[in-house]
Amino acid sequence: MALLGIPKPDLDPVQLALAINHDRPNEQLEQSVRDCLVQARELIAPRAVYELLAVVGQGPDWIEVQGKAGGSTRLTVGPKTDLLGPAERVLVGATTIGHELDDAVKRLNQQGDPYAAYVLDCVGVSLLGEAGKALDRLAEEVAARRGWGVGHRLAPGSLPGWDMTDQKVLAGLVLAGQGAIIFNDVGVLWPFKSATSLIGMGQGFISRRVGRVCHMCSKRETCWSKEK
Ligand code: SF4
Repeated sequence: MALLGIPKPDLDPVQLALAINHDRPNEQLEQSVRDCLVQARELIAPRAVYELLAVVGQGPDWIEVQGKAGGSTRLTVGPKTDLLGPAERVLVGATTIGHELDDAVKRLNQQGDPYAAYVLDCVGVSLLGEAGKALDRLAEEVAARRGWGVGHRLAPGSLPGWDMTDQKVLAGLVLAGQGAIIFNDVGVLWPFKSATSLIGMGQGFISRRVGRVCHMCSKRETCWSKEK
């Protein structure tokens, strides 16, 4: 397992407010997003952990990867496993922005300000997504050094058919033996503003840039944080 420090990401408050409000301009929300972005910079501590693992087997709905401690682990990725078809290695990662922003959201709710709590939470979700791109760039660099291409950023729960129950298996591949992010028996991560990801790389991938799966996600219609 390797650690990756991530600079605090910058986000455009106008674009973020529009995304949260499903493309409807709202001046009050825009100002709240601006304020929350300033507040969030003091609260977040983005970082990631990752492992580069060899793919040792694939089936119609699963892949098997070599564990660092020996043996192999099967991930039941589901019907979209073909997205990993050319994968020779995978970058398994977990990103977090820490727990302090969530603590502030909780305090705002306790103080009776659910609007500010909601906006700060949305800002945290976006900052986490932005921080996760550091792993995308890392996968692209590692693949480019070998003359390989890369696949999509995949995760249980967001890739259609990859059940959330597999989060525990994926987390176990990368989070064992470190303290930055922990997970429980059902794979729930802590700090809550954390996310796992798996990116395939190999000679058979054409793209040099890691893709997203929003275009095939069942939550696309209602999800404000989708990639456009
Ligand atoms: S549409 Fe939303 S939930 Fe679905 S993959 Fe994209 S960001 Fe995740």
